[in-house]
Formats: sequence, C-alpha cells, structure tokens
Amino acid sequence: METAEIQRRFLKFFESNGHTVVPSAPLPAFEDPNLLFVPAGMVPFVPYFLGQATPDWNRATSVQKCIRTPDIDEVGKTSRHGTFFQMNGNFSFGDYFKEQAIRFAWDLTTGSVESGGLGLDGDRIWATVYLDDDEAIDIWHRQIGLPLDRIVRRGQADNMWSMGIPGPCGPCSELYYDRGPDYGPEGGPEVDEDRYLEFWNLVFMQNIRGGGPAKEGYEVTGDLPKKNIDTGMGMERMAALLQGVDNMYETDQVRPIIDKASQLTGKRYGVSTSHTASESHPDDIRFRVIGDHVRSSLMLIGDGVVPSNEGRGYVLRRLMRRAIRAVRLLGYDKPAMPELLPVAMERMSTAYPELRTDFERISSYAYGEEEAFLQTLKHGTTILDTAVSETKSEGGRTLSGSKAFELHDTYGFPIDLTLEMAEEQGLSVDQEAFRQLMTEQRQRAKADAAARKTGHADLSAYWQILQEQGPTDWKAYETLETESR
Ligand code: ATP
Ligand code: MG
Ligand code: MG
Ligand code: MG
Repeated sequence: METAEIQRRFLKFFESNGHTVVPSAPLPAFEDPNLLFVPAGMVPFVPYFLGQATPDWNRATSVQKCIRTPDIDEVGKTSRHGTFFQMNGNFSFGDYFKEQAIRFAWDLTTGSVESGGLGLDGDRIWATVYLDDDEAIDIWHRQIGLPLDRIVRRGQADNMWSMGIPGPCGPCSELYYDRGPDYGPEGGPEVDEDRYLEFWNLVFMQNIRGGGPAKEGYEVTGDLPKKNIDTGMGMERMAALLQGVDNMYETDQVRPIIDKASQLTGKRYGVSTSHTASESHPDDIRFRVIGDHVRSSLMLIGDGVVPSNEGRGYVLRRLMRRAIRAVRLLGYDKPAMPELLPVAMERMSTAYPELRTDFERISSYAYGEEEAFLQTLKHGTTILDTAVSETKSEGGRTLSGSKAFELHDTYGFPIDLTLEMAEEQGLSVDQEAFRQLMTEQRQRAKADAAARKTGHADLSAYWQILQEQGPTDWKAYETLETESR
C-alpha cells in the first residue's frame, strides 16, 4: 500500500467518525519560542489542550509534517528514525477519551483492506501502557481481547508523553508490531524496538509538566482543564510494515532517492543481508542518510527555511552537508543535489503539490549550498587529513583542539563536521580545548567591539587641528553657521 493511500485511508476513517480534517502546520514552529520545528502532530493544538483557546470542533484529524533533530544520529542505524516524517493523528478536545481512542486505533489498524482498514495482523500487535494505568490495561485486555502477555507497563521515558518542555503531557499507550525473528530476539518492545516496531502512540492528554529533563525525571505539576486525546501514527513506519520492507528509508517516498544515489555512485544498496539496520554495512547506512536528509532538506526549504549558520537554517545546513558527504564517501564527487533533489520532489509532490510549483526557488538554495560546501570541503579536507595522519603517526588518538579551531576559523568547518570526519578515521577531538579557544576568540571579539565603542581611537589628527586652529565655537543648535576664532 502506497504512502498516499495510507494517508487517504487514515483521514477518511477519522473523518467518517466525526473528525474535522485540519491541514499540516509548516515545519518551523513559529508559535513556540522553545521549539525550532514541529516534532509532533499535537503542536498546533497546544492552546486547545491548555484551555487558552477553544476550537470550532471537538474532534480533529491531521497529517502533520514533523522534524526531530535529536533523532539525526539514529538515521539509517535503526529502521525507524527519520529527521523528517509525517505523523497521522486524531485528536479529541474534551470529547472522547481512552476507550474510544484505543478502539479507533485498533479498528483502523486491523480492519481489512477491503473495508478501508490497514489490514495488519492483530495477533502480532503488542501494547504498552504507563506504569499504573490499569484502566488502559483493562480496555486492551477485556474490550479489545489482547492477551495480557502482550501488554507491557513502561515508565515515564516511554509512556508519559510530552514535547520535552513544559506544557501538556499525559500517560500514553503505544502500539507495536512484531516483525518476527528475522528482525531480532523475541521478548517484546522492552527487548528489541526494531523487531517490535512502535507505529502508533495514543496519548491520554490530561496533565501539565514542568521544566527538567526532556524525557524522564521531570515533574507532573497539574491537570489540564479537560481530558483530551492526542495520537500519532508514524506514516513512514506504517508504510514500511505494509510495503513489506525492512525500514522506513525503503518505502515509496524515500527509496527512489537511494536508488538514484546508487546509480550515481555505482555502489549497490543492500550490501548487508541482515534485516536489522544496526548490523548494516556502513555504505547502506550512508545510502539511508542520503535518502532521509535529501528529503528533509527539500521539505525544510519548501517551508521557507534557508541555509545559515544558526537556528533553523543551521539544522538545514547540517542535513545537507551530511547528505553531500555521504554521497562523496560512496565515491561520487560531482554535485549530487541536482540529481537527487528532483527525485525527492517527484515523490513528495503528490501529497505536497507546492513543492513542484516552488521547485525553482527550492532547488536554487539547495544547489547553491552544495556548491559552497564543496568549496569548503576542498580546502579543509586536506588540512584535516594531514592533521589526522600526523596525530596518528605520533601515536595519538585525539585531534587537538587547536586544529579543530583552525579548521573552524580558517576553513569554515563546523565542529560537528570535524568530529564526524575525525571519527571516520578513528580519532576523537579535544572538544574541551576547542571550546576554550572559541571562548577566548569570542572574548577577544567582545573586547575589540568594546574598545571601538569607548573610543580608544587614534585622535592625533584632531589634536593637530586643534593646535593649529584653536577650538570651534559650536552653535549648530541655534544656527547653521559656525564661527571660527
Ligand atoms: P521511538 O521510541 O521509536 O523513538 P517515539 O516514542 O519517540 O518513537 P512518539 O514521540 O511516540 O515516538 O511519536 C509518535 C509516533 O511517531 C511513533 O509511534 C512513530 O510511529 C512516529 N515517529 C516518532 N519519531 C519518528 C522518527 N524519528 N521517524 C519516523 N517516525 C517517527
Ligand atoms: Mg523517539
Ligand atoms: Mg517510543
Ligand atoms: Mg512513542
């Protein structure tokens, strides 16, 4: 089943159950100063959960574009983490609660394909609930008929959902699909989250959290005015399950980018025979990074983000640079974006037609960024490689902070690029010393700026005029003429 069809079925199911279809918000989280990007479908609805605004409807459904930058290092190494993905959600604002939310998710997931469902095998589904949520266990077991040994209690990190910052939160119940022994050891989601693939999270949105750590160890400080439902089904994960592929990068929206990269580089994708992403050959991981990051870059520029050295623009820059480097590590050294980006656009414009009409603007940012980066790489790579071999020949395992600083300062290498490139050659980087040098540089810049402001400038020329001409009688406040004595 193609991704577009999953989307259609999802929205239709909830629309026919009284939900209003709400379009996706753009990726940049403009409303929330604490977030760069929207990481979940509920973000545009936060004011409704908090009771700060009242929606025109008490049931909604959406397919929200999401970016999760913290997942960047997982890309390609697990089967399930993209930096960009789409979260299909159904929401209740003080309307239905636990029982109905679980029933909806179960019916759509296991409903037959002929009747508009997604057709997954209910006997392979596991559910998790928050530690003390006996009510959810009861619904899963008695009403849905899930055996107790496929219902697992888990703690705050997994089953108390929040955005990672103060705001709405709530206990949740997640649905996992057992992909079988080819994908890892048995024993449920606590043993292997790649074999048991989490595809849907049902959040019983009823509490408020305070500050503190993002995932675990924060305090639940109060209750929301109403009991709400917020769910998120990962569309790419569902697509992987329904398309019978090993991971989300091999689904119909991403795989063609990998195939194009394989054609360009002349390297085969699928070197590893294992179905488990964590056991992959490094080349396979690089292909997945390319597929994911090229698509994410397209979606970000499409939503108005442009490459820069800070904030959202830096996230985009980092994604593009990682994709471009992965292409080069696979052996292709010409500009790759003009080959890869149009493939991503072709796949994504079915759901987002504006990507096609806006493609000239989008692609000119992407191609320009690649050209600039290839220049940076050309100059910096030799310096880095020399430093790496020097360090190694002296028996060292750590690249010095001053080298990392030089690469940053003179060749425009961001530290994470140096870290990645050094790591590929088996070295770590003295980050402490690098940071120290950065701090010193900032202090020097500050001192220079302060000196300019307080006027420690060369005034000798004026002094000479004063000696020769004597002081000026300044009358500009009363008249436009000055008198010289
Ligand atoms: P995981 O534990 O696998 O990292 P999660 O618990 O962080 O996932 P949730 O915050 O519960 O994910 O998000 C709801 C749903 O969105 C998940 O069940 C999953 O289907 C999907 N999802 C979350 N993160 C990603 C991602 N990085 N890439 C693709 N889909 C994702
Ligand atoms: Mg996660
Ligand atoms: Mg999880
Ligand atoms: Mg989850």
